[in-house]
Amino acid sequence: MDVPAEKRCIGPCQTIKSLDEFYRDKSRKDGHRERCKECVNADRDKYAKENPGKKSAECKKYYAKHRDRINQQQREEYAKDPEKFLVKNKKSYTKHREKRLIYNAEYREKNRESINQNQRNKIRENPEANRQHVRQWRIDFPERAKESDRNKYKKFRQKIIKRVGKWRRNNPEKTAIYHKREHEKYPYRRMESKQRRRAREKDLPIIEKVNPLDIAERDGWKCHICHKPVTRGTMSLDHLIPVIARGPHIASNLALCHRVCNSRMGPGRFPAQLRLF
Ligand SMILES: [Zn+2]
Ligand SMILES: [Zn+2]
Repeated sequence: MDVPAEKRCIGPCQTIKSLDEFYRDKSRKDGHRERCKECVNADRDKYAKENPGKKSAECKKYYAKHRDRINQQQREEYAKDPEKFLVKNKKSYTKHREKRLIYNAEYREKNRESINQNQRNKIRENPEANRQHVRQWRIDFPERAKESDRNKYKKFRQKIIKRVGKWRRNNPEKTAIYHKREHEKYPYRRMESKQRRRAREKDLPIIEKVNPLDIAERDGWKCHICHKPVTRGTMSLDHLIPVIARGPHIASNLALCHRVCNSRMGPGRFPAQLRLF
C-alpha cells in the first residue's frame, strides 16, 4: 500500500507535516491520527489546565483498575530492553524531579512504618546484598554518605560513644594499635585534645574544639616564639593568655609554636602575652 509521507493537520495548526509528527492510530487508513502531536498535546495541556487535578485523578483511577496489566507490561518492557527502559525512566525523573521528590517525601511520611518493616525484612533475607548495595551507594554518592554519617552521629551520639567505648575495652590491643597509628598520622590532634582536656579540668571560661592545622595556616607555619618554621611533627599550640590566667581555649587565644619552644617557656612567662597588648 502506498501511503503518503505527509499530510495536513486538521487541528489549529493546519500545517502539512510528515507522518511521524502524528500519533499512531491503527483504525485510520494511513495508521495515524488527523491532528498532529503538537495540536493533540496542546489540547491535552489546555484540558489539564482548565480541570486541575482531574487528569491525575483519572490516571489514578485508570491505574487502579488496570494495575496488574500495567505492571505486567512494564515488566515486559524492562525485560525486552533494560537499558532503554532505564534511559526513559531517567529522562522522566529529570523532567519531573521536583514533583517526584515532593511526592516521594509525602509517600514515605505516610507509609513510614510499612516501608521500614519491608526494608528490615529485605535486609534480613539477604544481608550480603544489602551490604553490597550500601557500599556501592557510598561510592556513587560520597557527599550524601558523609551527610548521612553526620546525621546518624548527631542522632545516636550517646549510643555510639557507649558502643565504641565498650569495643575499646574489649579490644585493648587493637585500640592501642589504632591510637598509635592515628597519633603517627595526626600528632597535632592528640596534642589539641590533651590541651582541651586540661582546659576542661581547669574549668576555663570558653572551650572550643579547634583544628590545629587551621591555626598553623593562619600563623603561616611559623613559631610565634622563635619565628622559625614549624612542621606537623614539631607543632604545638600556645595559649596567649595562659591557662593559669584563665585564658580561653579558642582559636584567637591560641598561637602556633614548636613543642620545644612551648615547654621551654613554661607557664607564667611574658613575651607571648606582651604581643596581645
Ligand atoms: Zn496541528
Ligand atoms: Zn619555636
